[in-house]
Amino acid sequence: MNFSSLGLSERLIEAINKAKYENPYPIQIQAIPAILKKKDILGIAPTGSGKTASYVLPILQLLAEKNAPKDRHIPVLVIVPTRELAAQVQQVVKMFSEFLPRRIKTMAVFGGVSINPQMINLHGTEILVATPGRLLDLLSKNAIQLDELQVLVLDEADKVLNLGFKLEVDEILSRLPKKRQNILFSATMEEEVEKLIQKLLHHPIKIEI
Ligand code: AMP
Repeated sequence: MNFSSLGLSERLIEAINKAKYENPYPIQIQAIPAILKKKDILGIAPTGSGKTASYVLPILQLLAEKNAPKDRHIPVLVIVPTRELAAQVQQVVKMFSEFLPRRIKTMAVFGGVSINPQMINLHGTEILVATPGRLLDLLSKNAIQLDELQVLVLDEADKVLNLGFKLEVDEILSRLPKKRQNILFSATMEEEVEKLIQKLLHHPIKIEI
């Protein structure tokens, strides 16, 4: 099995080669074709399994096929528990975007730093990586619009809930359009995660690593 046979474009393969990924990990073999088909995904996978590339690569391909979005309407939102993970995901997006036919802007937003520079820089963002609290702050200031969201990723969902972000996540979900693709990753399957899965995912493809 290699990355080309998963349906990824030449431009992405070029970036994968540059990253020195030789073969796809099991989670990537399962998730990449399913995400390209716009299916909902439930991934039970720990950090280190290669989960980031398993959603970043197909999402970049889906975005690159389209025109850049209008102004502050975000097409792809990745919710993460911590600023460290936000920065890490943004780096992976940047790394794999290098050879795409058009520039795809990504931003990481998180609390603990001033909101003003983040607000100014959001213009034209296509993949927004955010912690829940800061995302709500930006929404309340009308710095972003989520009404045209196409793909929602909830990464490390168990950690997001364990850090006490349940109400924030509910509030964010209530602001999203009904018709969208949902991708959820969690290392564990506790009760609160199960509830969220019921609410969020429609006939998901389940991948357990
Ligand atoms: P993650 O689980 O997304 O945090 O990824 C764990 C680590 O595996 C990261 O350092 C990735 O760069 C690396 N990685 C992910 N997929 C592959 C692959 N197919 N081949 C080699 N390294 C990979």
